[in-house]
Amino acid sequence: PDPDLRPERQPGDADRALRPQALDEFIGQAEARANLRVFVESARRRGEAMDHVLFHGPPGLGKTTLAQIMARELGVGFRMTSGPVLAKAGDLAAILTNLEARDVLFIDEIHRLAANVEEVLYPALEDYELDLVIGEGPAARTVRIELQPFTLVGATTRLGLLTTPLRDRFGIPTRLEFYSVEELHEIVTRAARLLGAPATNDGAREIARRARGTPRIAGRLLRRVVDFAVVEGDGTVTAQIADRALTRLGVDGLGLDGADRRYLRLIAESYGGGPVGIETLSAALSESRDALEEVIEPYLLQQGLIQRTPRGRMLADGAWRHLGLARPAQQGG
Ligand code: ADP
Repeated sequence: PDPDLRPERQPGDADRALRPQALDEFIGQAEARANLRVFVESARRRGEAMDHVLFHGPPGLGKTTLAQIMARELGVGFRMTSGPVLAKAGDLAAILTNLEARDVLFIDEIHRLAANVEEVLYPALEDYELDLVIGEGPAARTVRIELQPFTLVGATTRLGLLTTPLRDRFGIPTRLEFYSVEELHEIVTRAARLLGAPATNDGAREIARRARGTPRIAGRLLRRVVDFAVVEGDGTVTAQIADRALTRLGVDGLGLDGADRRYLRLIAESYGGGPVGIETLSAALSESRDALEEVIEPYLLQQGLIQRTPRGRMLADGAWRHLGLARPAQQGG
């Protein structure tokens, strides 16, 4: 599938230019935002490190952005790393010992921390202490290092893969939701202004409708539509140009791309609408189970196009309609 249409972070992402810088500029996630505002304000007034926060939800919904905003609003430093990057306990220890008082440490993909690295984190989170083992074999000994109080912000697309002890150490677990079309409409309008490409009301709405509820995708689609607007139009993002560009990119009226439709069509055409197991789908589509569960399915579930049952995935009525296929007659009964 076209990587441009997927919600995961890409190496060359120009995300930064479009990142809101303050809680007030952040659109959507009203409940999470209101709560964070209270916790930030309280930590500031008390002059303490804010409690640890866990953001979970599909990629591209603003977890990193919110973590950066929190650091800025707290008036503290921001350090960023990720679960897979922290290969050894020493890697994490080096970062922790370099934190200044009340800093925010952001660990993306925290469900992918190695077990021995995760263990270093427990006393750090609970007591701001580090137990380091120096040397090996009989000569090994443990030294305890005091850390500055800090705030860990963890982000994960897979809450279920977090170990219970790690999950329990976050005082503020926060679930991010897909954005509404109205919220994305605001985000696209603002981003178009920042990119210096005016969008008509209908133009911004067309992109918002087809962005899979995800600001990162909205930003990417907008950039592609701007390209078409510059080359084939007068530089204005209109509904007509947006529709033409998105259709050419394979993004349909619901915002589904080729990979989404392949998934739905497979269940429809090869399994009579299901139920079919995730492993079977993964093998047939040559996509990892993780990619299906983290990236493709959440939006299809949220849109009510599929259902998860104990026996596997099933197409809902809307998916048959969307594919333009007739649901096969029920067996028996
Ligand atoms: P995540 O960490 O959840 O994968 P990011 O925080 O990296 O997502 O956000 C992805 C992109 O979407 C960034 O370019 C960011 O600026 C944009 N974005 C996310 N949330 C919002 C929002 N509420 N308003 C405007 N832009 C947003």
